[in-house]
Amino acid sequence: MSSKHTVKVKPNNNEKTPVDIKQKKNIILDTDNEIVFEFGGPWGVTAMMIGFPLLMFYLWGCLQFYRGKLVSPLAGELWSQIIKEAWPTWYASKIYLIFCLFELFLAYFMPGPIVKGAPVASLNGKKLDYLCNGLTSWYVTLITSYILHRYDYFRLTEIIDNFGPLMTVAIITGFAITFTVYTVTIIQGKQHRMSGNLIYDLFMGAALNPRLGRVDLKMFAEIRVPWVVLFYISVSAALKEYEMFGYVSASMAFMVLAHFLYVNACAKGEECIPTTWDMTYEKFGFMLIFWNLAGVPFTYCLGAVYLHISSIDNGKPIQHSPAWTFFCYALLISSYYIWDTANSQKNRFRMILNGTYVPRKAFPQLPWGTLKNPSHIKTKQGNSILTGGWWGYARKIHYTADLMMAFSWGFICGFNTAIPYFYPAFFTFVLTHRVTRDMERCARKYGKDWDEYCRQVPYIFVPGIY
Ligand code: NDP
Repeated sequence: MSSKHTVKVKPNNNEKTPVDIKQKKNIILDTDNEIVFEFGGPWGVTAMMIGFPLLMFYLWGCLQFYRGKLVSPLAGELWSQIIKEAWPTWYASKIYLIFCLFELFLAYFMPGPIVKGAPVASLNGKKLDYLCNGLTSWYVTLITSYILHRYDYFRLTEIIDNFGPLMTVAIITGFAITFTVYTVTIIQGKQHRMSGNLIYDLFMGAALNPRLGRVDLKMFAEIRVPWVVLFYISVSAALKEYEMFGYVSASMAFMVLAHFLYVNACAKGEECIPTTWDMTYEKFGFMLIFWNLAGVPFTYCLGAVYLHISSIDNGKPIQHSPAWTFFCYALLISSYYIWDTANSQKNRFRMILNGTYVPRKAFPQLPWGTLKNPSHIKTKQGNSILTGGWWGYARKIHYTADLMMAFSWGFICGFNTAIPYFYPAFFTFVLTHRVTRDMERCARKYGKDWDEYCRQVPYIFVPGIY
């Protein structure tokens, strides 16, 4: 997929050398300090940094001006229309930036459990504290938005009405924060695992654990902005539909439900995130910043945007047969169940073993979300690998469930245009790439124990098939 090669790390002054790290109990990998050129190296990431924003404008332009037809990117008026309709406005800037600052304020001040992350090699094995107040912040956000809308301080329909300018503001913000975080990190001398190639380092990031006081910026960007904005785009489209037609169609209600489930799952399971790979390994660069601030909310929502635009074009919302609608809902809910419980089984299993498990009453707590004494492999490295529950069926069954959800988001839009399938198609690519990276990493980390795990659980995505 991507041409990869590895170079030796030049640890900065604050970092321990790999030899020091090895001596620490409980720690990690030399590979966590290796620089691996991924995504096609500097040329590949340059193409992505230019191509992603253009792709976002293109897909939206095809929906907005060509009823979802994938016109030639060089088509006559496409770009002039996009420039006109998606030009950033002060109003859109205020909406987006006030929202981000409000979420940052909540992340700083709301109560929540403090959870330890995994040991960080570059901090000599230190485990960082993460304030997990995502759930209280989410509830306050819901209540605040209800009040704003209900009492006309800010009508939520403004979001879908200003979609183009909002997307542009998010894109500009993504770039601005990428450059700012990079520059501040270099000035502070806190850069980590640098390749020496400016563009590549901007893409992957310089900072590993950037913080604003007690707010971890990486976790904030991953959880507090993308999914919440995504949810409000579909809520906005649904309210607009209600204003125009006096009811919300089953397809649009599906979108609101689907996005609610996702953002709610991120909030209620936030305490599982500090030990994930993104937190311990990935740096805070364009890849995470741009994608979370702009890419996720403004491309994963294309199905909701399509339903909105087509209802205006056709003079009525899209309605499918009851059977198809039922199928889409059933697919969404069943795959959500597998996804939610598989993630919680694995994360809670690890947390229970580490003594960091914090039982929470967050809604909904699903049956089979926590396993009692599941089968597992105790590795020589120290960690245990779960082989019970969903994890006895396939090694990445949560990815399969997530993908099934993604496809259901497309199916509910029908088949008149391919654009709502951008998310499932792109997500297939992302997850395939993540599987490859993760499997290689785990194989190096756990050696023969990983081989044994693959022997016991031979399937990756679908039990009995692949
Ligand atoms: P995973 O949840 O797959 O975590 C991978 C890590 O988990 C491995 O590196 C290993 O870490 C540990 N692990 C793997 N197998 C086992 C096992 N059997 N028992 C115990 N630990 C194991 O990683 P992701 O962060 O990629 O995904 C988390 C969720 O986020 C998924 O549901 C995914 O679908 C979703 N996601 C969604 C995205 C979106 O854009 N919608 C993007 C990316 C992810 P260790 O080194 O600790 O052993």
